[in-house]
Amino acid sequence: MIDGNCDRPHGNRPVSIEEALPFMKEILPPNNEIRVRISGRHIHISQADLELLYGPGYTLSKYKDLAQPGQFAARETLTVVGPEGVIEGVRILGPVRDKTQVEISGTDGYHLGIEPPVRDSGELEGTPGTVLVGPFGALNLKEGVILAATHIHMNPKDAEELDLKDGDRVQVLVDGERDLIFNEVLIRVDEYFITEMHVDTDEANAAVIEDGDCVTIISKIAV
Ligand SMILES: [Zn+2]
Repeated sequence: MIDGNCDRPHGNRPVSIEEALPFMKEILPPNNEIRVRISGRHIHISQADLELLYGPGYTLSKYKDLAQPGQFAARETLTVVGPEGVIEGVRILGPVRDKTQVEISGTDGYHLGIEPPVRDSGELEGTPGTVLVGPFGALNLKEGVILAATHIHMNPKDAEELDLKDGDRVQVLVDGERDLIFNEVLIRVDEYFITEMHVDTDEANAAVIEDGDCVTIISKIAV
């Protein structure tokens, strides 16, 4: 650092390639290419919150299946209201979850006047809230707005072939119009997952990725 005091929010991890190399484990072809899906802004909702917004006893209806088995885009949408802006028609994804979680892009946050942190799904403590509005009522969500951490869903067979396990972090190379490496991408392994990487719209735009493009897992980070 030429001019002093940049905060390093993640502590004193290796910063140069030479420092980092002992902690990297190369992941080799041919199994390391995976598909990318771009996640638009969306809401996971609890049954209790759904009933506040859509009415007592309401249940989600399916609009279309998502690639991950069992997950679906619902017909239902909500309006997200922040201190500085409003976004209408934000899709709810089903099935319902224990806690309501609003996943937006940084650009959406700027528009709404909210600065959500990057979080793994479900880690909502200390995150900002927002107001959600549905056809039946409105809800002042106390916390739950996040920028979803870049992650890869992976089935156990693919994970085994790449010597990866749930919770590992990897580097992913986008070899395209704008070369870019995503660092510390979270691996999530579940027998019900199909293997694909999820990025939000800002990440996709930054890396000039289109939905369905292929990217390469180049190394596992062993720290
Ligand atoms: Zn995902």
